[in-house]
Amino acid sequence: MKYVVILLVLLALGVGYYIVQKKKTSSSSNPLRTTSSNVISMDSHRKAKQSPGEQPCSSCKKKNGKLIFYAQDNGTVVGLCKDCQSKAKKRDMLPL
Ligand SMILES: [Zn+2]
Repeated sequence: MKYVVILLVLLALGVGYYIVQKKKTSSSSNPLRTTSSNVISMDSHRKAKQSPGEQPCSSCKKKNGKLIFYAQDNGTVVGLCKDCQSKAKKRDMLPL
């Protein structure tokens, strides 16, 4: 019976110690975590920004720089280059 009590005390101490350490590490490393996540989001943002320029135009299939995305009447979305924007305007397509 004594062993059980000792084990429980050790367990409680261990859990308490673990919680304290967890609080310490989380509070101290939070600024670092946010900065590192900011860096990651910036990288993904840059990649996301780069990719539209590499996509071909939905109308003329040319890789003509940045695409402007329009919603068609049937619900599909097309990315159009600058040359094809006038076509989209004639068709009354909504820019996204
Ligand atoms: Zn085009």
